[in-house]
Amino acid sequence: MNLGRNNHPEIREAVAGLCRQFDSAYWQEVDEKRAYPEKFVDALTKAGWMSALIPEEYGGSGLSLTEATVIMEEVTRSGGNAGCCHGQMYNMNTLLRNGSPEQKQKYLPRIASGELRLQAMGVTEPGAGTDTTKIKTVAVKKGDRYVVNGQKVWTSRLQHSDLMILLARTKPLSEVQKKSDGMSVFLVDTKSKGLEVRPIRNMVNHETNQVFIDNLEIPEENLIGQEGKGFRYILDGLNAERILIAAECIGDGYWFVDKSVSYSKDRVVFDRPIGQNQGIQFPIAEAYMEIEAANLMRYKAASLYDEKLPCGAEANMAKHLAAKASWEAGNACLQTHGGFGFAAEYDVERKFRETRLYLVAPISTNLILSYLAEHVLGLPRSF
Ligand SMILES: Cc1cc2nc3c(=O)[nH]c(=O)nc-3n(C[C@H](O)[C@H](O)[C@H](O)COP(=O)(O)OP(=O)(O)OC[C@H]3O[C@@H](n4cnc5c(N)ncnc54)[C@H](O)[C@@H]3O)c2cc1C
Repeated sequence: MNLGRNNHPEIREAVAGLCRQFDSAYWQEVDEKRAYPEKFVDALTKAGWMSALIPEEYGGSGLSLTEATVIMEEVTRSGGNAGCCHGQMYNMNTLLRNGSPEQKQKYLPRIASGELRLQAMGVTEPGAGTDTTKIKTVAVKKGDRYVVNGQKVWTSRLQHSDLMILLARTKPLSEVQKKSDGMSVFLVDTKSKGLEVRPIRNMVNHETNQVFIDNLEIPEENLIGQEGKGFRYILDGLNAERILIAAECIGDGYWFVDKSVSYSKDRVVFDRPIGQNQGIQFPIAEAYMEIEAANLMRYKAASLYDEKLPCGAEANMAKHLAAKASWEAGNACLQTHGGFGFAAEYDVERKFRETRLYLVAPISTNLILSYLAEHVLGLPRSF
């Protein structure tokens, strides 16, 4: 397998070509206005990239996860922000892997054609944080529907999505043997009555929200998989999510390195290009090396996933290494640009903010480290 930065040239060239239509001025404008990059997401959808993971029988292109990661990498590598669209790639998995044939037939072709968007996933709650088993949102079966009450936070892209994957408790924590049991996953129409959405203004241009759920009614046919097994389905989808995010960080990392190299060759101070100074060269070289190393783990994780082999450790390591590497590359890039790094027109400060998110979301650094410590190294469970 070609693990270089230019493998899958057909996908790269096509996605990069599309991304070139959305230049730095476009991303600066949406960032400044805190607007959703609607035109970009539309173009990506129309070109078929957003349905990469949907099997051909449902109108998608049936690509592998490895290929899907190349798409996301090209978006960030081109200077764009993939946070507006990555949800559709990985939220899809919950439906793909655990949905009934009827649900897949009903939704997947319409998602593939772009008629419906499945961009949102409501898992995190203000009171539970990373301890998802403590969620308070409850779904109670009443006749042929579930009635849901509770609250979510950081539910991203909800205002630009037709469907949301929602996790709720269907059996109280006190009544289950394993705390991860008793939660269920639903496919929710985001225009339903009972959902109040309050946007959260945040550090990046990321459309994300608080959601107040008040007697939301969900038809029973929108339960995905078995009642009570929802947390397992969510966990199942997380490996794909981590690997896709790793690839986005790799794209960011290459963007920072390329930007640093070209700026440091051009910028002349003390009568010589700043890139001639080893104090400027070394952080860029180090960032490049770390991105290359993280990229190997990204491909390892993606190929294990595509071969349907266990990949939890590799997916977590890929996400962590790539998020750290892109953050360090961002730091080197900002430093290389000196004062101009802070000027919005160079895009560096925007990308710096955007890539920082991935050390916290969708899973924070400490949780990855504790997963490895416990599940890979066999150290005692700490919480
Ligand atoms: C922009 C953005 C978009 C998001 N989008 C979504 C979304 O679409 N859907 C969704 O469901 N969620 C979303 N999230 C939520 C995200 O997944 C969480 O913020 C993230 O998992 C961290 O959880 P938390 O914020 O509750 O932090 P907390 O769980 O409160 O943790 C706070 C800090 O304490 C650390 N910590 C906690 N417990 C331990 C421990 N035992 N040992 C060591 N350290 C610990 C954590 O690592 C973290 O650094 C989003 C978040 C952001 C910021």
